[in-house]
Amino acid sequence: MDKKRTSLELFRLKKTLNTLAKKEGRGTELVSLYIPPGRQISDVMNTLRQEYGTASNIKSTTTRKNVQDAIVKTQQRLKLFRKPPENGLVIFCGAIPQNGVGSERIETYVIIPLEPISIYVYRCDSRFHTEHLQEMLREKETYGILLVDASIATYAKLQGRRLEIIRQENSGVPGKTRAGGQSARRYERLRDMRLQEYFRRVGGHANEIFLSIENLKGLILGGPGPTKYDFDNGDYLNYMLKNKIIDIIDTAYVNEQGVKEIVGKAPKIMQKIRYIEEKEVVQQFLYEIGHDTGLVTYGEEDVRKALKKGAVRTLLLSEGLDVQRVTVKCNVCNYIEQRTLKSQMVTSLEQGLMGKPCPKCKAPSLSIADTKALIENFAELSEQSKTEVEMISDETEEGQMLKKSFGGIAAMLRFKLD
Ligand SMILES: [Zn+2]
Repeated sequence: MDKKRTSLELFRLKKTLNTLAKKEGRGTELVSLYIPPGRQISDVMNTLRQEYGTASNIKSTTTRKNVQDAIVKTQQRLKLFRKPPENGLVIFCGAIPQNGVGSERIETYVIIPLEPISIYVYRCDSRFHTEHLQEMLREKETYGILLVDASIATYAKLQGRRLEIIRQENSGVPGKTRAGGQSARRYERLRDMRLQEYFRRVGGHANEIFLSIENLKGLILGGPGPTKYDFDNGDYLNYMLKNKIIDIIDTAYVNEQGVKEIVGKAPKIMQKIRYIEEKEVVQQFLYEIGHDTGLVTYGEEDVRKALKKGAVRTLLLSEGLDVQRVTVKCNVCNYIEQRTLKSQMVTSLEQGLMGKPCPKCKAPSLSIADTKALIENFAELSEQSKTEVEMISDETEEGQMLKKSFGGIAAMLRFKLD
């Protein structure tokens, strides 16, 4: 089944992979393990056992120890699974220097992919091999590409990175310059008729080809010169297909070369679509505010309350929200408080707590028990109440407004709150 990846899932994966890709081991001692669905866990365990044995030949004591520790930790995680989840399983594990040489600590990351993985990989390297998962961040939706000018039309489809030219046809429309002996007006009328026939033909083929593509995300129209606009302005496309036109682009060519030009620009075009979606979500929110419907709320505290009541239909979170939810705990009386603060302030809070008396028992035993990105904190609350989460980038005016005027947190409600 084709499950739609949510903006939150993509945001999380992107963030995790960015962090992991930056990590470096002291030597060749970081384990990357990709297990496709259907693979026996016991097989993988056997491989790890062999790798552990092989690692005993490593000359450097530290590297040997680090590799073997990483393998053991990986095995421990793997034991928690009877079989791989339906999309497979990825584990990254290894000794990461925390603060210069000698400060390595084993870090383990278990990732359940958003889509089934098909490869089995065991690698031990000085970095984590995240590239196979990075692939998944690329758009997987299908786009139609239609290039038109007065001589040729080319139909293609782009699915992820797979490009397919479906059809190409000649227009049969004569050139703009007439042969000698014909009346200029008659020639032009004739040419115009042939052009319209050709447009109708292209429209028919486009409807047939593109409307039969399941989950067609959009159609990109292109070609050199103004012909593509004439085609777009006429009623040659079925309205369902016309509604899917996401961009009209100038290309130098109208053949396969032109299709490749569009593919080159595709990431930008697709990003633009996401921005449009983001703008729409924020605009909906602004509409509710403007019309005083009572079906919105914003700001950390109010949205948290609304989430806990199960009142939030859609939660809007700014990707630029760089704040942490910190749990401070007293180790003597179990007093607990939670605070929200900018990520860079966590260390100074930690230092500030030292020697400070607990508000309840007065013992100087306060410390940070847990730190979590506020986005994750809200995402968890959302999961409990089946709230849809929309991650909004800073790249649009609306996104900036969400961040600056509403604290980066806003909610559209299922029902009014008092
Ligand atoms: Zn206390």
